[in-house]
Amino acid sequence: MYFGSVRFFKHVIVCVTILLIIVPTVFCFILGSKASKLENENGELKSEITDLRLSGHQSRYEADELYEIYKENLENKDDFLKLVYRDSPELYRNAVGIEEALPTVSTSALTAAPVTDESADNSGSVGIEDEPEEALADDAPSYEQLYPDLYAELPENIIYNDDMDYVYLTFDDGPSKYTQSILDYLDKYDIKATFFVVPDGSEESSKRLQSIAKAGHTIGIHTATHEYNKIYESVESYLEDFKTAYDRVYEATGVKCKLFRFPGGSINDYNTEIRDDLIAEMTRRGFIYFDWNVDTSDAMGATWTEMYNNVRTQTIDKNRAVILMHDYNGGYNTILVLEDIIKWIIGNGQRTFHIGQLSEFVKPVQF
Ligand SMILES: [Zn+2]
Repeated sequence: MYFGSVRFFKHVIVCVTILLIIVPTVFCFILGSKASKLENENGELKSEITDLRLSGHQSRYEADELYEIYKENLENKDDFLKLVYRDSPELYRNAVGIEEALPTVSTSALTAAPVTDESADNSGSVGIEDEPEEALADDAPSYEQLYPDLYAELPENIIYNDDMDYVYLTFDDGPSKYTQSILDYLDKYDIKATFFVVPDGSEESSKRLQSIAKAGHTIGIHTATHEYNKIYESVESYLEDFKTAYDRVYEATGVKCKLFRFPGGSINDYNTEIRDDLIAEMTRRGFIYFDWNVDTSDAMGATWTEMYNNVRTQTIDKNRAVILMHDYNGGYNTILVLEDIIKWIIGNGQRTFHIGQLSEFVKPVQF
């Protein structure tokens, strides 16, 4: 007789054990792992979005790509993009493709010197933009009158290149004794780069600048002195330093620079007081600044391995990477690692990138 037998009770105990202990345990395990996976993904999403915003990445591709990865966790793409671009309505509109023409920037207003035209017809005009120009000129800061020829010559309209999967190598602080080595590596792989230079006005410096220009690389202004305290003392002192560097480059090469990079980047501890005015003034003059979103940390004394890994880890997930390197007399490690960095960028087995040079047609990467 099975019912009531010892065997029957054994089976009852086994069944109860399974139901009360094993099944809930398995459920807990499954739910727990799902929750932690979700938490990880959300954490990753948060940090990638932070990176994206900090790095100044403004490409719609970047947002699209992130959305594809995280769409399971988001109610809709619009919310996602609002989150990514919450500080910049214009970039948000760009990202969602409301206005395809948004990347077009009219530069006529930037390149024109301030004008006072008393005969201007202001009848029926309303709004700030239509205020009499005389009033604006009166309020204009005095530094706008400095160096009346210091304006970037930009095309009337700029349509940015579609530069998905592009990497831009940039070298600050040159020229130096290593400039020629850098040029040789770039030439070996037939690639162009961008040099944000610190010309000291010497013959040696000028010759090196000529080599950079002759090889077809982009030259942008970095600074004449690289003395943070001095150049960021006021907008006037920044302009004075910039003008000195600009003239030296022009005299040495005939190149009228349009691009520049702030020493220490556009946001640094030294320019807090004047930052907004300075950026507004440089932009008014038509100059375009580039920060970076990949830092080799070469100027911080990074080793070969650190530099190589910095490039790999910071570049792999970006659709437009601007890599910060330095061309300076202490930059031997940069020379040692440069060829391997180039090789990794153009063929790393994970993603294929193109290497390009910065110009006014590349959408700026700014902090
Ligand atoms: Zn520098």
